[in-house]
Amino acid sequence: MARLKKVGIFSLTSCEGCQLQILDLEKRLLDLLDFIEIDYFKLAEERSRMEYFDIAFVEGAVSTIHEREKLETVRKNSKYLVAIGACACHGGIPSLRNLIKTTGGRGYHPISSSKTVAINKFVKVDYYLRGCPIEKEEFASFLLMLLRGKVPLEVNSPVCGECNNREIECLLRKGIPCLGPITASGCNAVCPEHSTPCEGCRGTIEDANIFSLVDSLKSLGLPERDIENKLHKFASSLLIGKGRSSRPFRGKGNYSPVDCRKRGASLDWGKKKCNLL
Ligand code: SF4
Ligand code: SF4
Ligand code: SF4
Repeated sequence: MARLKKVGIFSLTSCEGCQLQILDLEKRLLDLLDFIEIDYFKLAEERSRMEYFDIAFVEGAVSTIHEREKLETVRKNSKYLVAIGACACHGGIPSLRNLIKTTGGRGYHPISSSKTVAINKFVKVDYYLRGCPIEKEEFASFLLMLLRGKVPLEVNSPVCGECNNREIECLLRKGIPCLGPITASGCNAVCPEHSTPCEGCRGTIEDANIFSLVDSLKSLGLPERDIENKLHKFASSLLIGKGRSSRPFRGKGNYSPVDCRKRGASLDWGKKKCNLL
């Protein structure tokens, strides 16, 4: 029988919600244990060991020297490293702290720690699993595909496509500010499905037309300050000072299981080889 692949699940500055998604796989996670052994997963097992890993999943952004060192050690000890969740992929919610001025107000001490950034600022990332939190089913299918030596192809389409496919009524057309037109798909438009506008948690598509969306939001009467806050929510560290950037927080390797399914049963999305096997 083939050797079980060694997997580590690590956490940096985060809310641990993405790790919870993995635990929430429940029986499916137990089934995956036929193919992998999880040697590092502190949320589930305190006695985790830092050693060699075939696949390392890293949740969270880097905000301290200690975290940077931990991340670099994980990279050194891992064959394949996957960023999981908005914090690891592009800074996410923790990087909102970068917007806070370092001078304290009355009664407050100044903040003097370093900026909070995505993990690819310090190490090579082999793949990005997006979302806040990640989709647990996407995690499971990605891992299975990787174990077969394949890497899902990048898909570069906005959440709007998923709304169209599922005949979900457009919120933007009803005057509700939605970031779907610039946001990478893969969540099956879960927020618009529940009448909630997309907040951009999966990062932007390659050729996102941010200016056009900003114009649309302005025409709805949304103040510029609110538009800016909306756009900063999931990628503050990369959008700041880059108002003209069309690729503010896009890494390579985006993956959308929904779009993959759309391509039919041939599953040609696994053609690209990975170096794991
Ligand atoms: S991406 Fe979201 S759910 Fe995942 S760790 Fe960061 S804040 Fe939590
Ligand atoms: S609701 Fe949002 S994501 Fe859906 S089609 Fe409209 S703008 Fe796009
Ligand atoms: S609709 Fe937008 S905010 Fe909601 S899960 Fe999808 S990408 Fe994230």
